[in-house]
Amino acid sequence: MHKVAWSRSAPLRGLIKYHTAGGPLCQKSALKSTSADLLEMPPCNFTPQEYKMICDGQITLGLQGMSKERMMEIRQTICHPMTMKVTYYKKPVCIHQGHMQWLWDVDGRRYLDLFAGVATVSVGHCHPKVTAAAEQQLRKLVHTTNIYVYPTIHEYCEKLASNLPDPLKVIYLTNSGSEANDLAMCMARLYTGNFDIITFRGSYHGGSPQSMGLTAQQAYKYPVAIGLGCTNTMCPDVFRGLWGGSHCRDSPVQTTRECNCAQGQCVANEHYIEQLKETFVTSVPDRIAAFFAEPIQGVGGAVQYPKNFLKEAYKLVRERGGVCIADEVQTGFGRTGSHFWGFQGHDILPDIVTMAKGIGNGFPMGAVVTTREIADKFAQGVHFNTFGGNPLACAIASSVIDTIHEEGTQQNSLKVGTYMMLELAKLRDKYDIIGDVRGKGLQIGVEMVRDKASREPLPAQEMANIFEDIKNMGILIGKGGLYGQIFRIKPPMCITMADADFFLSVFNKSIQNSVARR
Ligand code: PMP
Repeated sequence: MHKVAWSRSAPLRGLIKYHTAGGPLCQKSALKSTSADLLEMPPCNFTPQEYKMICDGQITLGLQGMSKERMMEIRQTICHPMTMKVTYYKKPVCIHQGHMQWLWDVDGRRYLDLFAGVATVSVGHCHPKVTAAAEQQLRKLVHTTNIYVYPTIHEYCEKLASNLPDPLKVIYLTNSGSEANDLAMCMARLYTGNFDIITFRGSYHGGSPQSMGLTAQQAYKYPVAIGLGCTNTMCPDVFRGLWGGSHCRDSPVQTTRECNCAQGQCVANEHYIEQLKETFVTSVPDRIAAFFAEPIQGVGGAVQYPKNFLKEAYKLVRERGGVCIADEVQTGFGRTGSHFWGFQGHDILPDIVTMAKGIGNGFPMGAVVTTREIADKFAQGVHFNTFGGNPLACAIASSVIDTIHEEGTQQNSLKVGTYMMLELAKLRDKYDIIGDVRGKGLQIGVEMVRDKASREPLPAQEMANIFEDIKNMGILIGKGGLYGQIFRIKPPMCITMADADFFLSVFNKSIQNSVARR
């Protein structure tokens, strides 16, 4: 087993080493840590460009970009108010450049990116192969619509279809995950002739007027009549939910909850299925259009369901005339490690799969994949969007799939992700404020609690301090969960074991600091 940097055999001393892009401007502003320990960032032999800032309205060193102060002013006065609300840190990170798992801020400080622009940069920031494919296509043909026949869209559709099981072979290309889910909702309703759609509480399926109805998190809800016909049912969350035990989920790490279930039995699953049945008899008509689920909740905080839940739910949904939709926006393209698609880990076959984020390694794109039968029914109207499947998007997405296969990205996800979770579980056992560690591959959640006995969410201020501390030590992670109590780790899938060790030492240190502040 890989040696852990924070273990007793490898004590850590000294100061955190910051890796900057070089040049006086960069080094001058390298941040100091609050910690006295040496948490050394793995080396990186890539040299980013130096960011030359415009100061006092004048260009001091070159022609590159705006000062941090001016960016924040514009953010406050011109960008929409949400951009201020979601600026993650007390001291915002101003990103300038990326390479694989690394990001550099405008001061030249390097960060290990473990959030990947919300699980989106799949194979690595500006991955050289993807960049080369994009450059080549940019010189050839950037745009024409799919009313014409051009190679890239056909090459890509064939490639994507070959990565999905039968009969999921008909492809619609969109510009985002929300658009993909909107399309899937419409398709399901037309195909079934029913209207009602069920999703889990705590799910996130998009921010468009239709998909907002699927999303079941207060923060993303508006007091207007949108998302009609959507019903949210209890999430079978085996850590925070009413029921859960010691071998419910498909993860290298189980909850610390105990149960007396025999091998192959899961009482928690039975209870949660009863709740779904209760939703059927109380909240929707006897015939429904669809059931949407993420194989592992993303924004909800890597929430996992009991192993057989989706399999049983799919059966119940189909008995009521509904189609089953897997939202693979976060879990697709190898992120869960064991499989290319998250649904495969549940041993289920959806009728419709939606995807986005990792599909384009950061290039805006999405897709809906379904069966010929459903697609034929949907063909009664014309479905058209200007950019979906545009040549540049297809060239990029095509090279993303090639890269995943050529570089063993999915296998890396499994190896590094499993290692990280097993080591994080040791920290969970060490600290009372780490309630749960879960996930699959590089879709990882760490749920923070006031204490293990109460399972109450860790107060927001403590979460914020840990989060800031981790950033100050050179790592970007995400936050999620209904109470903002879950750290989300979903990096570009090219991260290494050394990166994982660096994260484990930083995380350990940040928790130590937090406990000391209590
Ligand atoms: N589904 C899931 C599971 C997501 O995580 C997201 C975005 N966070 C979406 C759908 C919506 O995707 P987009 O932001 O591209 O519209």
